[in-house]
Amino acid sequence: MGSFAEFHARSIHDRDAFWAEQARLVDWKVEPKQICEYSNPPFAKWFVGGQTNLCHNAVDRHLAARGDQPALIFVSTETDQEKIYTFRDLHAEVQRMAAILQDLGVVKGDRVLIYMPMVAEAAFAMLACARLGAIHSVVFGGFASHSLATRIEDATPKVIISADAGSRGGKSVPYKPLLDEAIQLSAHKPARVVMVNRNMVAFTPVAGRDVDYATERAKHMNAVVPCKWVESTHPSYTLYTSGTTGKPKGVQRDTGGYTVALAASIPHIFEGKPGGTFFCTSDIGWVVGHSYIIYGPLIGGMATILYEGLPIRPDGGIWWSLVEKYKVNVMFSAPTAIRVLKKQDPALLTKYDLSSLQALFLAGEPLDEPTAKWISEGLSGKAIIDNYWQTETGWPILSICNGVEKAPSKFGSPGKAIYGYNVKLVDDQTGEELTGADQKGVLTIEGPLPPGNLQTIWGDDERFVKTYWKTVPGKLVYSTFDWAVRDKDGYFFILGRTDDVINVAGHRLGTREIEESISSHPNVAEVAVVGVADQLKGQVAMAFAIAKDTSGLTSDAARKALEAEVMKVVDAQLGAVARPSRVFFVTALPKTRSGKLLRRAIQAVAEGRDPGDLTTMDDPAALQQIVDLIKG
Ligand code: ATP
Ligand code: MG
Repeated sequence: MGSFAEFHARSIHDRDAFWAEQARLVDWKVEPKQICEYSNPPFAKWFVGGQTNLCHNAVDRHLAARGDQPALIFVSTETDQEKIYTFRDLHAEVQRMAAILQDLGVVKGDRVLIYMPMVAEAAFAMLACARLGAIHSVVFGGFASHSLATRIEDATPKVIISADAGSRGGKSVPYKPLLDEAIQLSAHKPARVVMVNRNMVAFTPVAGRDVDYATERAKHMNAVVPCKWVESTHPSYTLYTSGTTGKPKGVQRDTGGYTVALAASIPHIFEGKPGGTFFCTSDIGWVVGHSYIIYGPLIGGMATILYEGLPIRPDGGIWWSLVEKYKVNVMFSAPTAIRVLKKQDPALLTKYDLSSLQALFLAGEPLDEPTAKWISEGLSGKAIIDNYWQTETGWPILSICNGVEKAPSKFGSPGKAIYGYNVKLVDDQTGEELTGADQKGVLTIEGPLPPGNLQTIWGDDERFVKTYWKTVPGKLVYSTFDWAVRDKDGYFFILGRTDDVINVAGHRLGTREIEESISSHPNVAEVAVVGVADQLKGQVAMAFAIAKDTSGLTSDAARKALEAEVMKVVDAQLGAVARPSRVFFVTALPKTRSGKLLRRAIQAVAEGRDPGDLTTMDDPAALQQIVDLIKG
């Protein structure tokens, strides 16, 4: 173990040597000739001339040393199934799926769209695509036909792999009718649809288009489908961003860079070891699921748990019971899930033997201090590691890297810039780099982006360049569109998105800071703050809060009293300038399907405007509450 500062410095100043070393963590059919090619910025090409295969590195490579060890542990509390696939089993299943796709004419470069619940076949499908060099595009199973149709049109898949239904809270959620509708809506039609039939909802296959997975699989029990060696720069998949700030962007990822980035992240960031177990509670439809349910752990020779079900069913101890049962070493979840658990009996956290667990990683949205404290105390002594990244980056930008050097976490901070990331904070007005401590700027990454990051936006190089890149004095930087400060020790604090900053009478305030302040009131469970136009001050803050205890909030007077208390907290902590003009109490907040607050929509509604693209919204009733309050 060495010094992290040195490790990071080497990754930037001796970039090619650093990544050449990391590239040894993976198998190459043909060794790369050039580590990074950046002659046409901002388009970076990693491990040029090299040939490899993502599926080979995730599966085949481990057969010799750990063929009989668990690779994929499928657990469904929806269907009461639990099944362990060894690397050898997984190898066989992936080849069967690959053989089916091959029969349907899928070849290298073809797109295959995967619209599936959290079942083992979804993992087989992703790995089978990688095996053939086909480009998968996984669409989160919670999306309905309209969202799915836009993604089908954008990805133009030859084949779609789907299932009859998912399941949530014990009730089946039909997929097939939504898929049929989406295909009807879409201008692009897939040639074939592979249907995994879970016998949950009855459906009629479309003749000439739909094929039954079980029937086809039975024909290929002994399938041998070799991995297709592809150039390092060959796209492995496309995946759409959450759409928190607008129309989702189709992130395109390469093969070699992504494989190396994940292979390196397992030991360096997660301290994962071959033979260990990784449990990521995300969904395969999100980037965290791609990288840390499927590819990362498997590349690292670890078993991975693929969990279908709620975190609180049969009770709030289910995840911890899996940690005990499968001796999970590394766990990865999101703050939103922890907030769900927080409403359950805290005794569930101490009921199971969690001695195997090294750390709990959380990402995807700000980890508020009360939630961080609650889980940290509940899991007494376990490291809680907030890490910050984006669909675009494919793996974390900020974290502490305990595998390189042990470092403490700081509450509210996702840690330091990870190796490979040349992070710069820049002043959004002047574009100057901010190098001092505690200065607030936009978090940017100087090009080239490290391996594993997006190559471009699928089919739209121009949007890639225009959306993310800008020239600041002497440098071309990628903008994350997030505000941050860096303290004197190099720890970053994310303050919110650049479009979440409000300007009150000339004072620039992050909505996140106001939210943190409001959350510190003992009766506030969750809150969203947005800026709304104000004739006098330009903008004012407006808050929508969920009270922890609503029993006293039955009258207008009681609500007013709590509102006044909350305002006082903000006055005391941030000053009257940050005081929200109103604090409304709601029972739910509008979020994306991935659990991110849809401030954009709340703000539009609060200003009496049309909320725009809501395809990724989870619960329309939550936004309606706000509409009603504003009309009030
Ligand atoms: P879109 O780009 O389509 O608006 P999105 O940005 O919500 O959607 P993702 O790529 O899933 O889509 O989310 C990345 C964003 O999530 C980051 O830019 C940041 O705003 C937020 N985020 C992720 N991790 C953290 C974290 N640990 N702390 C604070 N914010 C985080
Ligand atoms: Mg984004």
